[in-house]
Amino acid sequence: MRNAPTILHLDMDAFFASVEQASKPSLRGKAVVVGGLGPRGVVATASYEARVFGVHSAMPMAQARRLAPNAAYLVPRFALYRAVSEQVMALLRELSPLVEPLSLDEAFVDLEAGGAARDRESARQAGIRLRADIRAVTGLTGSVGLAASKMLAKIASEQAKPDGLVLIEPGTERTLLGPMPVRTLPGVGPATGDHLRRAGITTVEELAEAGEDELVRLLGKAHGHALYAMALARDERPVVAEREAKSVSVEDTYDVDIHDRLRVGLEVQRLADRCVRRLREAGVSGRTIVLKVRRYDFSTLTRSETLRGPTDDPAVVREAAARLLDSVDTTGGVRLLGVGVTGLADYTQEDLFAQAAGERAADPADEAVPEAPAEQPEPAERQWRAGQDVRHAEWGPGWVQGSGLGRVTVRFETPQSEPGRVRTFFVDDPALAPAEPLPLVLAAGLDHPAAGLDHPAAGLDHRAANIVPAADLVPPAADLVPPVARAGRPGSDRPGAPPRAPEPSGEDQAEDDAGQDSSEPASLPKSWSGTVGGEATSSP
Ligand SMILES: [Mg+2]
Repeated sequence: MRNAPTILHLDMDAFFASVEQASKPSLRGKAVVVGGLGPRGVVATASYEARVFGVHSAMPMAQARRLAPNAAYLVPRFALYRAVSEQVMALLRELSPLVEPLSLDEAFVDLEAGGAARDRESARQAGIRLRADIRAVTGLTGSVGLAASKMLAKIASEQAKPDGLVLIEPGTERTLLGPMPVRTLPGVGPATGDHLRRAGITTVEELAEAGEDELVRLLGKAHGHALYAMALARDERPVVAEREAKSVSVEDTYDVDIHDRLRVGLEVQRLADRCVRRLREAGVSGRTIVLKVRRYDFSTLTRSETLRGPTDDPAVVREAAARLLDSVDTTGGVRLLGVGVTGLADYTQEDLFAQAAGERAADPADEAVPEAPAEQPEPAERQWRAGQDVRHAEWGPGWVQGSGLGRVTVRFETPQSEPGRVRTFFVDDPALAPAEPLPLVLAAGLDHPAAGLDHPAAGLDHRAANIVPAADLVPPAADLVPPVARAGRPGSDRPGAPPRAPEPSGEDQAEDDAGQDSSEPASLPKSWSGTVGGEATSSP
């Protein structure tokens, strides 16, 4: 392990909710919950104001509504989150060629690799500068952890939240980790946590005291060994710029070939459940379900099915695996079965939402429909979803606050405006049309209070200015130009422009976005033979 705290972990604070608050001045300082709004929806992100009521990510939306009935409940706007994420990642890549994104709002950076830092003081300065740059460019806050390893950098950023920076001095790691709950360590999910608790182990210190042999006995060789190393604060994992295609898979070899088709089916279900537990422990989800079957003659084949969105739902994985098994001839007997999930997304927040995306379907199993045709039927009437961007021919840009009983309520405000007024229209009002999201910060924060978050002008250093295209470097006087004109949005300053066709938003968007990845070939676990999407046979 290196001896300087030059691994940086950045985590944006309540990212989706913060973007919404920056976009919608009337929601600043208020409880905001972003996620699936249907009956089976889950919370993707809750603002800190909503967390006070006990609302948190992955909570069923119905429960959130009971806890915080007065919060604003909004559908996610992934297009905007992605755009802001790109700005943040670009700032990280200025610091180092070694940037490892974990999700839209989270990444590791190796500061030494980029020459941005070599010791404690230069690392801290890089972290301070980064936070200021992020604020200037996006108007949002992110928390920074600095340490000598990835594990501790991530723990540090967690401690820094919200809007802070924590540096863990090399050499102090074990003292710091000791009293922390075992769940602090990566790879310790609820199941492992329970298992350890039953063995009387609740803190990292107790893990270390238990010793490697005991942990291997409790958790198996690989997991026990890894956990022991982490309990001693040993983490040598490098920051990798290109995340390798990852997968989670489980398999079982049977002493005696299984001939009974029913039994094969049950084994596959069991493996699917185990695979999902692994997925959840790793905090990831995936789109491609893979079934591996080794037959009596040692011929091995794999079958796969790609879903429209990532999942870690056991029912969905079980059903997909069962469908794949339907296409495999097992009459001669089966000696090995495996179930895997690949095409993993670490975009956990997004995944939670994608999972809820099936909620509008009458049958939950619809979520598992293979993506092939993926045609969206034209909606019979326009749907206005809470949080969605709209534009009114007369009143300008705004967002849907709510709709029902043939009416839609719109709040007219922009990221740069004062909190706006609310007006109600008929849902089919021709003057009202869906719109693109407005940028949070107009010109990298030049003299602008960035999205109402009173960031210090000191945040505007060379770095922030460098990324502004020359054309956008306007003199301060231009700030008087109305935001829509400055943003150069075609048609946006034309009152009376014909309303455009409704665009998919919210839940639809999540599925559509997930679908864009479909051109990427799904990758198989390295140890597996065969070809994704078809049948491949290999001999021993
Ligand atoms: Mg975050």
